[in-house]
Amino acid sequence: MHTPFILDKTAAVDPWHVVRLNETDDAASIAVQPNAIVPLNVWQAQTALHNRTDIGVWLPNTTEPENLNIDWNQFPVIALDYPKFTDGRSHSIAYILRNRCGFTHQLRAIGDVLVDQLYYMQRVGFNAYSLRADQKIDSALRALNDMFTVSYQGSSDDARPFFARESSTTQTPVDTYQSASSVSLSDKIAATALQLHTIARDYAPVRFASSLAFEDMVLTDLIAKAQLPIEIFTLQTGMLHAQTSNMVNVIQAHYGITVTPYTPDDADVAQYVTEHGKHAFYDSVELRKACCFIRKVKPLQRALAGQKAWITGQRREQSMTRTTLQAHEFDDGNGLDKFNPLADWTFDDVKNYIAQNGVPYNPLHDKGYPSIGCEPCTRAIKAGEDVRAGRWWWESQDSKECGLHISEHGEHVTHEDKVD
Ligand code: SF4
Repeated sequence: MHTPFILDKTAAVDPWHVVRLNETDDAASIAVQPNAIVPLNVWQAQTALHNRTDIGVWLPNTTEPENLNIDWNQFPVIALDYPKFTDGRSHSIAYILRNRCGFTHQLRAIGDVLVDQLYYMQRVGFNAYSLRADQKIDSALRALNDMFTVSYQGSSDDARPFFARESSTTQTPVDTYQSASSVSLSDKIAATALQLHTIARDYAPVRFASSLAFEDMVLTDLIAKAQLPIEIFTLQTGMLHAQTSNMVNVIQAHYGITVTPYTPDDADVAQYVTEHGKHAFYDSVELRKACCFIRKVKPLQRALAGQKAWITGQRREQSMTRTTLQAHEFDDGNGLDKFNPLADWTFDDVKNYIAQNGVPYNPLHDKGYPSIGCEPCTRAIKAGEDVRAGRWWWESQDSKECGLHISEHGEHVTHEDKVD
């Protein structure tokens, strides 16, 4: 089947062919093939290829180009492989080749290359694309030339972040949020996957705080599929629904990865129960916050100790208190960077991602619980109610604005908690 090809934003006839060897192929036979893009390990093994100007290489997505003693600019073309479109590790390799290795020739994406990925591939440095055979060239050209006029982050194509490009647009922050809301789900997935790769690369060690709810399962799915070095933890308050607690086992069985539970200090819990009673959080906002402090805030502080950044599944749309949520912010209370890669996602985006990707989720979501926290502090909502209406429902909206984010003095500050 014909492979659609794009070079420098234009449909082109591809003069190159990609050589994919398997164990039974005779690697030496490629020495007589002109214009071949061969596996890097084959090029390394066959010195006869080294002086050829009609040989390119393709790199598996586990390659670390910075650590190889190779003059990358000797190759007229380097291809980066995408075995699955959900695996974005080659995004990072592209960025490194362009920005750290100084590669200036053709950089192409090969493998499971879909139209929806092109814009972000272009941003990290690709200028050529061997599309999957079922992809439409017209759609691909539109994606590269028309789809977006503004990008938020700096990258290989323009190192300046959005805020630094003063003359590029007159949009206000509100405008950009509204624009983001109209971005397609596939674009949001690509952007989120790219952001997670960038965070894993630039902010290690980094941990993802999962509440085991819908949004966090989206991030878990993206992290697990890309095998990113991002450790996942959850706050096991001791008050979770059995269905929520069981999600740790579900994730282990489905993805083969471990979610580390952080539990409250036994002495803290015992003192609270002795002094106030186990369910004193119903009695006053202060006692509710005190319970959250013991069961959530302190374990969170332990989980984040020594980390450079943390990741949450917060979305702007979730409540009035999150409308100004940024995809990247500094967490003053805990003293590290904080990322909210789903900030722009709608609830429908989350549900559609879960459905389209067969992601396992907490069965309580199907019983009227769009937002799930501790069992005694969460109830199902009725049709038409706000998605957060089932959380601390006996309190006013104002008091719900306090939570896990605390100052260095232990005071609660603005914003709701997330790991709930
Ligand atoms: S959500 Fe309720 S039970 Fe859970 S820590 Fe906070 S006050 Fe305690």
